[in-house]
Amino acid sequence: TVDLDQFSDWMRRYAGVIHDNAPLLTELDSAIGDADHGSNMDRGMTAVVDALDVGEFTSPADLFKKVGMTLVSSVGGASGPLYGTFFLRFGGKLGAGPVDAEGLGVALHAGVDGIVQRGKAAVGDKTMLDAWVPAVEAYDAAASSGVGAALTAAAEAAAQGRDSATPLVAHRGRASYLGERSAGHQDPGATSTVLLLETAAETLG
Ligand code: ADP
Ligand code: MG
Ligand code: MG
Repeated sequence: TVDLDQFSDWMRRYAGVIHDNAPLLTELDSAIGDADHGSNMDRGMTAVVDALDVGEFTSPADLFKKVGMTLVSSVGGASGPLYGTFFLRFGGKLGAGPVDAEGLGVALHAGVDGIVQRGKAAVGDKTMLDAWVPAVEAYDAAASSGVGAALTAAAEAAAQGRDSATPLVAHRGRASYLGERSAGHQDPGATSTVLLLETAAETLG
């Protein structure tokens, strides 16, 4: 099972990984966007760590409500509301106590459904969903082996999804403004999603 401290560690570890990868994320966004995905995510996750430092949380649901609201309010850009919605919906499926592999899967699905509802994108549109959707499918297939195995499978599937979106033409988000010229570039948001799931496998397993 996964408890409140592990979820908190996940967010702190992800903030560090995002800080270290901000130059990469911004470089990817400079090719098919507006060169701010690294700074957007770094600003958002820095605000999340600040909020975790001062807040007192009694449940994972509480914690992720704060994470989601902080991302929505601190990140001006598509990724803030999308990740924010993910964490609000994810946390909404978590109760007060530790969660098992099945419960974590339910929460991941709810989070991804939130991204779909908010962004109206589908697999193949060359967005973060190209990483998220195969990730939750892989999670489900491995959930009976436990949280660690399921998250490792999810992170691997997310990386494959990120890479399979690289040759595609974007149909959502700023990259879609480029039309055919978006093909052949790795999606920034799919890249930050892989990092989130890799960090989850390291901290929650
Ligand atoms: P902005 O495009 O507003 O500058 P960011 O650069 O922070 O925001 O985030 C861009 C990323 O957001 C894209 O690489 C893509 O993965 C994701 N994205 C954009 N629009 C959508 C959408 N409608 N649905 C899902 N993901 C999206
Ligand atoms: Mg951008
Ligand atoms: Mg922007």
